Amino acid sequence: MNLYNIKHPEQQVNFAQAVRQGLGKDQGLFFPATLPQLSNIDELLALPLVERSQKILATLIGDEIPADKLNAMVKNAFTFPAPVAKVADNIYALELFHGPTLAFKDFGGRFMAQALATVRGDGKITILTATSGDTGAAVAHAFYGLENIEVVILYPKGKISPLQEKLFCTLGGNIRTVAINADFDACQTLVKQAFDDEELRQAIGLNSANSINISRLLAQVCYYFEAAAQLTAEQRQNLVVSVPSGNFGNLTAGLIAKTLGLPIKRFIASTNANDTVPRYLQTGEWQPNATVATLSNAMDVSRPNNWSRVEELFKRNGWQLSELGSGALNDAETETALKAQYAQGYLCEPHGAIAYQVLKDQLQEGETGLFLCTAHPAKFKESVERILGIELPLPDALDKHNKLPLLSDEMDNDFAILRAYLLK
Ligand SMILES: *Cc1c(COP(=O)(O)O)cnc(C)c1O
Repeated sequence: MNLYNIKHPEQQVNFAQAVRQGLGKDQGLFFPATLPQLSNIDELLALPLVERSQKILATLIGDEIPADKLNAMVKNAFTFPAPVAKVADNIYALELFHGPTLAFKDFGGRFMAQALATVRGDGKITILTATSGDTGAAVAHAFYGLENIEVVILYPKGKISPLQEKLFCTLGGNIRTVAINADFDACQTLVKQAFDDEELRQAIGLNSANSINISRLLAQVCYYFEAAAQLTAEQRQNLVVSVPSGNFGNLTAGLIAKTLGLPIKRFIASTNANDTVPRYLQTGEWQPNATVATLSNAMDVSRPNNWSRVEELFKRNGWQLSELGSGALNDAETETALKAQYAQGYLCEPHGAIAYQVLKDQLQEGETGLFLCTAHPAKFKESVERILGIELPLPDALDKHNKLPLLSDEMDNDFAILRAYLLK
């Protein structure tokens, strides 16, 4: 597989290098040089998840990784299902929260851990990543206990749900977690600064595991096929997919699936009040506001770092950005949407509720709608219970961690302090 740096196309790498480096020169993102058109979509859709995903990823990655190794990586990563549930007439939910940390990031996180363990070579590796909630848990669990891999996770102090925090800040071992006194964008900036520091990078074998790593995106392509496989051929005719978006990795993966030939008529990018992209699509002006805290905190991102990949894909495919649907909901509208879903008989959480409502508002006659449910309702227990006036039992995976003490360090938003901490 050949990839190039979107900012510096002359920088070209293979899959192993892209996985190990995470980011290219000047913080440019790597992107596949070619994406094949699959001619056997119907055949693929007839296969079970793991087998189909092995074929898709083999086509994308090529012979750089031997088939038996790649097959094992996929099998070890995709150990849980992604069922489609009917929510209303013509509207379906793709439930991506049945993995060990109850969020869709388990797909990308687990595949990336497998990929890195496969292509790592010698020497120490430090995974440094910023999380707005769920990436941290997925990455921590995917890498927990892997030999010679240290993991450091930064998150905005007090801005993720207490349960989210418990899920990944209680592991210990090779997992260190740091609560930063700032917002998520600041955490992301600290990570980027670390990657720009060549000396630091070499000293600790720096690697990133957030949605900028290409292996995560490739893994996520697979569940769009899984969704289509569970719909009828007729429903696939006019399929519209709404993606609750923060850093826009999930949407990028969906657009790659469409590029490969998966029949998706159009996508809708759904956001909370951090609506840089919906405003951009309306006005043509890129004007991020300060990030605001919302109920759907995993999408509290005002400078989505995968956006350059989205634009690259549109440009290369000759698609118009005006074909990309979008919509944003504030917290009050999110609460109303969650209640409406519940009244329909479907229990969701704020991120999925936004994707559902924006889809419902924009779905046209004769179309089938699919929205992504990115987290288990219990991960947002406090909000969901308050809004719906119900009590939610904790799933076992959460309950176990909820009883353990937090092991996080606290840090000011200062790169010099972080640097010293990483070198320690
Ligand atoms: C990360 C996350 C999102 C946003 O996904 P992106 O790929 O960053 O756009 C949405 N919902 C939940 C629950 C998440 O954890």
